[in-house]
Amino acid sequence: MKAFEYVRATSVASATEHLGSTAEERRVAKAGGIDILDLAKEGIVSPSRLVDLSRIEDLGAVDFDRSGTTLGAGLTLARLATDERIRREYPALAQAAAEAATPQIRSRATLGGNLCQRPRCWYFRNEHLPCLKKGGSACPALEGENQYHAIFGVRPCPMVHPSNLAVALLALGTTVHVHGKQGSRHVPIEEFFISPETDVLRETCLAPDEIVTSIRLAAPEGTSAYGEIREKQSFDWPLVSCAVAGTPGGEIRIALGAVAPVPRRATEAEAAVKGTRITPELAAKAAEAAFAAATPLSKNGHKVKVGKALVTDLLVKIGG
Ligand SMILES: Cc1cc2nc3c(=O)[nH]c(=O)nc-3n(C[C@H](O)[C@H](O)[C@H](O)COP(=O)(O)OP(=O)(O)OC[C@H]3O[C@@H](n4cnc5c(N)ncnc54)[C@H](O)[C@@H]3O)c2cc1C
Ligand code: SF4
Repeated sequence: MKAFEYVRATSVASATEHLGSTAEERRVAKAGGIDILDLAKEGIVSPSRLVDLSRIEDLGAVDFDRSGTTLGAGLTLARLATDERIRREYPALAQAAAEAATPQIRSRATLGGNLCQRPRCWYFRNEHLPCLKKGGSACPALEGENQYHAIFGVRPCPMVHPSNLAVALLALGTTVHVHGKQGSRHVPIEEFFISPETDVLRETCLAPDEIVTSIRLAAPEGTSAYGEIREKQSFDWPLVSCAVAGTPGGEIRIALGAVAPVPRRATEAEAAVKGTRITPELAAKAAEAAFAAATPLSKNGHKVKVGKALVTDLLVKIGG
């Protein structure tokens, strides 16, 4: 790991002041440090300055009010997984947090860091292998070991977004609150993640001086659930994940994870279950619709089958 400057920010304003205005300045935020320290040790990023957000009190705030809930970006996954009110009102979010990583990691890893973590693609994570996302000219995964890669939107870069929480938040319908030197802005979660087609070098819409300060969830309506299928039951990233939220018999939002470079709304499946009672047959039909447009790579066709089973199960579960 190369030497870098370390700054402990004491407020949101001071954090953004310490961050650079351009990517070339290589000043990056650190929250729990789970991913950023790995990336630095692995030689994938080489910060000139780490700006530590972990002591900023405002980022740890939780506010439940009549119209919804604001959750600070510094809340740990352990807190999200165990908070009684989050479990009751936004079960998909609590379940997504509970399924991520290990208890030790969940006790450090934060909401903001989880949304902003970098891809787990093994070519990307190997400092000796060039790829588009590191400024190279080709993607070795397209013809290579792509069993964990995307089955939607596979070109130019079939990475999958690794965040469990992003999937739950997409289904729940969330706004991401961001602060930078120019002030604050509120970004719908659909617009927060940037696909490789738009810019292969970035995963989020954040400018170099911006941080996520909180997320805002509307007051819960109906119910929600999150599920994932992974190869092993101890810590692992999902092969496919899914979150559903809404009112059975009314509107249901369905989000898929680990199948595309950004968390994906399954709008075809949503249309199939809208305004009607969810039977197992209808759930299976909706799951077919969710994966009808998939274009798997040479080694990941299994994700289609696994994904359909997961979507069917979750729809049946919330449909009662
Ligand atoms: C063994 C293992 C298994 C895992 N399994 C899963 C899993 O199943 N599901 C899952 O979702 N994750 C999984 N993870 C990933 C883990 O959850 C993330 O690495 C963690 O949530 C990152 O949070 P952090 O606070 O430590 O972020 P950091 O490592 O501090 O930061 C991560 C990135 O986010 C940026 N960042 C941090 N906070 C902010 C902010 N407020 N605003 C803007 N940018 C910010 C940093 O600059 C950095 O680029 C796993 C990790 C490991 C090591
Ligand atoms: S999938 Fe994306 S991150 Fe992985 S090797 Fe290809 S370009 Fe790089």
